[in-house]
Amino acid sequence: MNIDILIIGQGICGTMLGWYLEKTGLSFLVIDESKPFTASKSAAGIINPVTGRRIVKTWMIDELMPFALHAYQTIQQEFNAQFISQKTIIDFFPSAQMRQAFLTRYESDQQYLRMADDEKKWYGYFNYELGWGEIDPVYLVDVQNLILAYRKKISDRQLLIEEHFSIDQLVLSENKIRYRDIVADKIIFCDGIETAQNSFFKALPFAPNKGEALIIESENIPAPNIFKKALNIVPWKDNLFWVGSSYEWEFQDDRPTEIFRKKTEALLQHWLKSPFKIIDHFASVRPATLERRPFIGFHPQYPPVGIMNGMGTKGCSLAPYFAAQFSRHIVSGAALTGEADIHRFAKVLARANSTPGN
Ligand SMILES: Cc1cc2nc3c(=O)[nH]c(=O)nc-3n(C[C@H](O)[C@H](O)[C@H](O)COP(=O)(O)OP(=O)(O)OC[C@H]3O[C@@H](n4cnc5c(N)ncnc54)[C@H](O)[C@@H]3O)c2cc1C
Repeated sequence: MNIDILIIGQGICGTMLGWYLEKTGLSFLVIDESKPFTASKSAAGIINPVTGRRIVKTWMIDELMPFALHAYQTIQQEFNAQFISQKTIIDFFPSAQMRQAFLTRYESDQQYLRMADDEKKWYGYFNYELGWGEIDPVYLVDVQNLILAYRKKISDRQLLIEEHFSIDQLVLSENKIRYRDIVADKIIFCDGIETAQNSFFKALPFAPNKGEALIIESENIPAPNIFKKALNIVPWKDNLFWVGSSYEWEFQDDRPTEIFRKKTEALLQHWLKSPFKIIDHFASVRPATLERRPFIGFHPQYPPVGIMNGMGTKGCSLAPYFAAQFSRHIVSGAALTGEADIHRFAKVLARANSTPGN
């Protein structure tokens, strides 16, 4: 079988890349093994325009957020489903310093921040002492249902092979790749944290980061908002809420831990005024990078081999923008954003002299 592009992995990256490649008219196939707890399947789906202890705007957010909104709205129209909704984060200040940081940022930049209109507004639902502010607008992407809907679409059209991809069966020539009976011009790895072990790209500065989350049931959390106080409480479905997450740079494995469950349960008992029930608990590893920028582009030494990865904590806002940009790059050679283009690591990749099996 001859195709233009072979995509490995159908998380949010593989999904968005397939979506945009199709618009260019290129033919593609996706190989994805259905793992239950991938980063995309574990994600809350939040697109938050501000970050960190100083509440600064996240990288490129003024471009990324409207782009992502338009992309998800277009996709949901095609599927006649809802995959994105607008929310507000109610940010309960966890310390006097964080309250001050919010106030300071608000005084200099009010684009995404608002002060509380009524400090006592949430007293019926939450325990809090230091007040709250609002982050707005924020978007919530239903990543699980989006990738499920797209999976069905490509499966129905026989563009999906549901199995494990084995790199040792990949054969490269100068401008083609062969994988079993598939011959393609390019192969693009969108396989999340797996790429950090991949012989072509393992020299890239990945910084895997484990995250855990709970699903809780509660009758008394005002649903349209996201509530934040060290943890996020995010509307999931009906009376269910996603609660998380942890950010672990050092971890033994990708399984849920008793420590997270107990700590989160204790925090919720202190924070929520009503009872709740834990329904589920999962964990996954984010494909994060040392310098917190994505990895996009083709290998400087192996031009048929590409990567779309390194989305870290921000797959929902980064994936649509960089999938569209990468598709334009493939079709017409349009430039990639320098900070995301893997050519910034050309020397590292050359030194590693990566070949399959190394
Ligand atoms: C707990 C948690 C909460 C998060 N919350 C948010 C959030 O609110 N907002 C946000 O923007 N981001 C969030 N993230 C980050 C986000 O999930 C990631 O940035 C994003 O999902 C990465 O997507 P990906 O497609 O690169 O990788 P993945 O989602 O890991 O997808 C990779 C795919 O490749 C497949 N695969 C891997 N190896 C192979 C192989 N050898 N053969 C075949 N298939 C293979 C896997 O099965 C999977 O389907 C969160 C992450 C975690 C862990």
